[in-house]
Amino acid sequence: MFKNLHELLLKMPTEKDCRDYLIQQRWNGKPVCPYCGFDSKTYVIEGGKRFKCGSKECGKKYSVTVGTIFESSQIPLTKWLNACYVVTAHKKGISSHQLGRDLGVTQRSAWFMIHRIREMMKNVSDVLLQGAIEVDETYMARKYKSDYVGLSPEEVDYAQKSPYKSKGAVVGIKERSGDIRVFAFDDRKQAPIKQAIYNNVMEGSRIMTDEAFLYRTGLEKYQHSAVFHSKHEWVRNDVHTNGVENFWGVMKRAINGTWHQISYKHLQAYCNECSYRYNTREMKDCDRFTLSLNNMERRLTWVGLTKKD
Ligand SMILES: [Zn+2]
Repeated sequence: MFKNLHELLLKMPTEKDCRDYLIQQRWNGKPVCPYCGFDSKTYVIEGGKRFKCGSKECGKKYSVTVGTIFESSQIPLTKWLNACYVVTAHKKGISSHQLGRDLGVTQRSAWFMIHRIREMMKNVSDVLLQGAIEVDETYMARKYKSDYVGLSPEEVDYAQKSPYKSKGAVVGIKERSGDIRVFAFDDRKQAPIKQAIYNNVMEGSRIMTDEAFLYRTGLEKYQHSAVFHSKHEWVRNDVHTNGVENFWGVMKRAINGTWHQISYKHLQAYCNECSYRYNTREMKDCDRFTLSLNNMERRLTWVGLTKKD
């Protein structure tokens, strides 16, 4: 249908074109009531802008964006589809400042748009990874402002002692020749990190890590091998974590080159974005765009995004 952003913009220059495209993508052309799931009778109203559910019990009116990441947005769909394409295609992401300028919307609107697009990029598969699995951790996104405002002297001392304490912990779990899943944690506490491994890796698989204390116990249901980075050992036979380390390189380049700084609060969302693009890196940009729209039926509200923990 289209092979690049230029063709997308040519194919869908109007709101009606974008609406029709979403109706096709979401419902295969046949509207389904997002309130009750009824689809055997639907009335087209307001010149095709909205629909009315044909169920006697329901009878609600809805548009194609109800129940999707686009719901209740004042931004035109033409700009939305443009944003979805750019965010899913750009290898190192795009900043909200840049997207705002590119689309002619405020930085605040662009920031909210990108976060909603990240919702589509979230992995929700619970299929267990298996075979040769690499597990590795790193630290990113400062938890505290640089002047440590509001912290007690003990807390400042604690935070300054090591990056492990002042940044979020991020763990990557990767099938050697398959997908990576990335999880953000407050710090490197063993229990939640082990739980993420149990939840994502099939028992009996081979797990390869470095020698960090995190992995010294609790992996008995796997065949566990470690390389000793402290002894300058990076690869021993086929034991290494180079796949995950390669991913950290890509993600850190996005942070340094594009976002400059990422918020600790939204660290998981940045992990979702980077791992989604990494796992679909062999795909054409237009196919990745279409694939991400398969997940449009997710919601993220401003209140949900900005609420205090
Ligand atoms: Zn209904």
